Amino acid sequence: MAELVLKEVGKAYGDVEVLRGINLEITTGELVVFVGPSGCGKSTLLRMIAGLERITSGDFSIDGVRMNDIPPAQRGIAMVFQSYALYPHMTVRDNMAFGMKIAKRPADEINEAVENAARMLQLEPYLDRLPKALSGGQRQRVAIGRAIVRDPKVFLFDEPLSNLDAALRVATRIEIAQLKERMAGSTMVYVTHDQVEAMTLASRIVVLNGGGIEQVGPPLELYEKPANTFVARFIGSPAMNLFDGVVKASGDYTVVSLKNGGTVTLPVPSEGQDKGKEVKLGVRPEDLVPTDGEDAVLVGDVEIVEGLGETTLLHLAPREGEEAPIVKLPGIHRIDRGATIRFTAETSKLHLFDRTGRSFLYRN
Ligand code: ADP
Ligand code: MG
Repeated sequence: MAELVLKEVGKAYGDVEVLRGINLEITTGELVVFVGPSGCGKSTLLRMIAGLERITSGDFSIDGVRMNDIPPAQRGIAMVFQSYALYPHMTVRDNMAFGMKIAKRPADEINEAVENAARMLQLEPYLDRLPKALSGGQRQRVAIGRAIVRDPKVFLFDEPLSNLDAALRVATRIEIAQLKERMAGSTMVYVTHDQVEAMTLASRIVVLNGGGIEQVGPPLELYEKPANTFVARFIGSPAMNLFDGVVKASGDYTVVSLKNGGTVTLPVPSEGQDKGKEVKLGVRPEDLVPTDGEDAVLVGDVEIVEGLGETTLLHLAPREGEEAPIVKLPGIHRIDRGATIRFTAETSKLHLFDRTGRSFLYRN
C-alpha cells in the first residue's frame, strides 16, 4: 500500500535544471510508466523517488510522509535496474535472500519469501544455479525476485528489459504484466523509452519531455486524445502525420484549409479569433483510408511501399516544409510506386493543434 505524491518537484545539477515543476499523484496499486526520449529526465525522476538522487526543489511524500530527507533504505522501496547487478558468485537463491539475510530475518521467513518469489517468477528450477548459467531474461527475473522478496511498498523499474533481445523482451514484458496482477496492492513505477512497453503495461502513462510532463493519462487516452503534438507523435507508430493548414471559418465547427489543397471541417469548436490562424491537422497513418470521393484530407504520390503482410505502409512524397506522410493500410495491397492516391479519414479521428502545438480538442 503506498500513495506517492510529487509537488512541484525539480532537479538541478548546479545551474543545469534537468527536471522542473513535476506534479504527480500515484495511487496504490497503479503501475505508472514514465516514457519519453533519451535524456528527458526519466531515470533522474525515478532515482529521486528511490532516494538515490537529492530532490532540489518541491516535495515528495509516500502515504503522506515527506520523503525528501529520508534515506533510501527507509522508504520501503525496491528498485530493479537495466543491468541486473546480481552477485556472480551467489546462487539464485542466495541472490534473492541476500537483502533479508543482511536484515537478519529468521531463516524460515527468508526461505518462504524466496520460494514465493521463485514460484511467482517461474524461477524454481533455477534456484541453485549461478547467474552465469542463466539467460538474460532469467537474470532479470532474479533481479525482480530480489525486489519482491524485500516486500516493498513501491517497486521501481528503470528500463528493465532494454538489455534483452526482442523475443525475450516480449516474454518478460508479459511476465511483468502478470506480476502486476499478482502483486495487486503494490505500487509500481516503470521507466522505459519503448512505447509498446508503456502502452501494454501502464495503468497510466506519464509522457516526459525536456524535464517536464507533457501529459498524464491511461494509454489509450493518450493515443486518442493527445494534448499536444509532442504526445501525438510520441505515442503511436508510425507517428501521427501533421499537415499545415489555416483556419478558414470558426464557431461550433472549425473549417481548415490545408496547404496541400484539401479542406476539412472538424466538429471542434474554435473562437472567432482563431480565423486566419495557422494550425496543424493531425491524422494517424492507420486512420487514413483510400477514397474516390471529394472529401480527401490527403492526396499523394506513393514513393515507397512497405508490405509487412499484416499491414502495408505507404510513404508518400512530402510537400515542401512537411514530413513525408505515411499511410498504414491493414493487410496486403499491391500498389505501384508513383501511383497518386486520395485519402480520407473519419472526422472523429482528426486532430487539430495550434501553432504552439497545443490541441484544440484535448487539454491537460
Ligand atoms: P533519461 O533517463 O530520460 O534518459 P536522465 O534522467 O538520465 O534521462 O537524464 C536527464 C538529464 O540530466 C540529461 O540531460 C543528463 O545529461 C542530465 N544528468 C543526469 N545526471 C547528471 C549529473 N550527475 N550531472 C549533470 N547532469 C546530469
Ligand atoms: Mg534513463
